[in-house]
Amino acid sequence: MSHSLESDDRGIILPCPACGTANRIAYAKVSQQGRCGSCKADLPHVTAPVEVASPSAFAALISQSPLPVVIDFWAPWCGPCQMMAPEFAKAAAQAAGEAVFIKVNTDEQQQIASQFRIQGIPAFALIKDGKLASQTSGFQPAARLLAWMRQS
Ligand SMILES: [Zn+2]
Repeated sequence: MSHSLESDDRGIILPCPACGTANRIAYAKVSQQGRCGSCKADLPHVTAPVEVASPSAFAALISQSPLPVVIDFWAPWCGPCQMMAPEFAKAAAQAAGEAVFIKVNTDEQQQIASQFRIQGIPAFALIKDGKLASQTSGFQPAARLLAWMRQS
């Protein structure tokens, strides 16, 4: 079962916690908290990992996000990746408003994986100001991933 959020070329799809309406948060505005287009309730920060659906969505997010972006490279057949998923989600929740956490399925997004020269998974990359700041790999608890993110 996945709690990841969907995304497209224009932004992250965030369901309103009050009414359930899908709101699109533009990548350039991920550091802000918007309002639901339907019921006008305040929307929370993005607190869950975002699934990347295409190279164009990935490029848009990376180039437009004012927040650092943490990438989890994973695949469904990878056991350590399954173990990592709840830790990555925990890190995303704890760093809400501080960074955006995204998931790249290396089976479906081979172009992105090769761009980062991913050899083994799970692997992680940190993007700051649109540029690669650091990479690491292997299972790690949320606290260690956050420490790496904040020190890099
Ligand atoms: Zn709403």
